[in-house]
Amino acid sequence: MPLSPARVFATLNAARPPDQASPVMGKAVVLGGSVAGLLAARVLSDYAEHVVVIDRDDLAVPGGRPGVPQGTQLHALLPGGLIQFEQLFPGFREQALAQGAVEAPPEARRSYLDGRLKVVVPDDADSLSGSRPLLEGLIRQQVRRLSNVTTVTARATGLLFGDAGVTGVRCDVDGVPRAEQAEFVVDAMGRSSRLSEWLEQGGWDRPATRRMTVHLNYATAVFRRDEPQPTFPIVLALHSPGRPADVAGAAFFAIENGRWMAMMAGYQDSRPGRTADDFVRRLREQFPPEFGEVADNEMLGDVQTYRHADSRRRDFNALRRFPARLVSVGDAVASFNPVYGQGMTAAALHAACLSLYLRSRPDLDVPARRFLDLQQVVVEAAWSTSTSADLALPHVDGPYPRGYRLSSWISRQILTATVTDVRVARRFNEVVSMREHPSSLATPGVILAALRANRRHG
Ligand SMILES: Cc1cc2nc3c(=O)[nH]c(=O)nc-3n(C[C@H](O)[C@H](O)[C@H](O)COP(=O)(O)OP(=O)(O)OC[C@H]3O[C@@H](n4cnc5c(N)ncnc54)[C@H](O)[C@@H]3O)c2cc1C
Repeated sequence: MPLSPARVFATLNAARPPDQASPVMGKAVVLGGSVAGLLAARVLSDYAEHVVVIDRDDLAVPGGRPGVPQGTQLHALLPGGLIQFEQLFPGFREQALAQGAVEAPPEARRSYLDGRLKVVVPDDADSLSGSRPLLEGLIRQQVRRLSNVTTVTARATGLLFGDAGVTGVRCDVDGVPRAEQAEFVVDAMGRSSRLSEWLEQGGWDRPATRRMTVHLNYATAVFRRDEPQPTFPIVLALHSPGRPADVAGAAFFAIENGRWMAMMAGYQDSRPGRTADDFVRRLREQFPPEFGEVADNEMLGDVQTYRHADSRRRDFNALRRFPARLVSVGDAVASFNPVYGQGMTAAALHAACLSLYLRSRPDLDVPARRFLDLQQVVVEAAWSTSTSADLALPHVDGPYPRGYRLSSWISRQILTATVTDVRVARRFNEVVSMREHPSSLATPGVILAALRANRRHG
């Protein structure tokens, strides 16, 4: 009998890598060596004799890189992601701290909704504050140290197919085409992955791509930080969707090398913080006082902007004809409005799905349906969390799921109650940090608690 979505989440969050490697295949190839690909490679290192990670960037070069343009923007690692990283790389937290990441326990994180400070949730999970290149770089170091993992600089250009499944990949190394045989292939090429086209070219079904247009404009700037361990290393200030504000929200994080990283976001024609003057002025005038204090420091470098057109997902699980020995993970499957900070954590949960699937020593000659079913639970959870909030934005016009009016009213009640009610805020945090499935929020107990809190404080 299939597990309920809540059980799938509990199982994934408790999953540990096997004590010792137990290969079920010879060579596995991962296309894309960013967060999702590296986490998949870590999992595959337990189940394949040899893992090759192919990326168009040279992964031996540390720091930000062209293949991950979003790397300049603020990246939050949700507590659910930190749990997964720690399971895959024991000691991850300590190593991140040693490299300059900043501890952010619950009492050191502040969150405002429409200018009101939210209640602090006492037993909430730990988090870390660091830049995206630091987090990705640490994962990369750990994966590159694994004795059966190799990284190759090449551009993937297609797949090789046999009768029932994938037999390898085609790539381009310095302009020279090459074929790489593989017993298992993972697509981790991000939002712009061309896997759908390659499937179609190979005579397989092409997945439907679902999109929700959000037209988000991000701006991130870095400031000097003098306090080594600030009281509040993570502060977020969001505006409820639909409020007449041209800034959707702002956040700042203490990051490595004595710096603050601050971001602000707007939708459609609103592009807050595109210039240094505008960025600093808005931090001072439109957000709680802590934001102004960060803005009083010296800005290091220019404001970096990023436009994010849509959330999108590719429904591989719905395909009738899908080749064996192939899976897709991370943004290549589903990428969301980044203000909810789900991407790296979702990628980590996809890796946990891969681990559960391979641990069952599956028949690799048939499509990885069990993997796709598990992954679908993660994708649906992240998608429903981000798109249900986005649907409340005035410029987002669907598609609306069935029962949307009622579910959006309930969501609004719960979100409002997170400002004042510890029980509701704790459950909400568990869901938005991807430690629990969203179904745990829609219970009569939580909804009643939210209604009571809103009546008390309304
Ligand atoms: C503005 C912004 C802010 C974000 N903020 C957060 C946040 O706060 N928290 C969070 O968890 N997530 C955040 N995300 C999402 C996060 O960046 C991704 O979810 C995360 O990087 C995982 O993505 P990925 O590894 O699947 O793909 P990507 O990171 O996009 O990497 C794809 C990789 O594939 C490689 N590649 C692509 N095509 C080829 C090819 N043909 N051949 C070889 N290699 C190829 C690329 O070089 C790259 O290394 C944000 C995203 C954006 C856009």
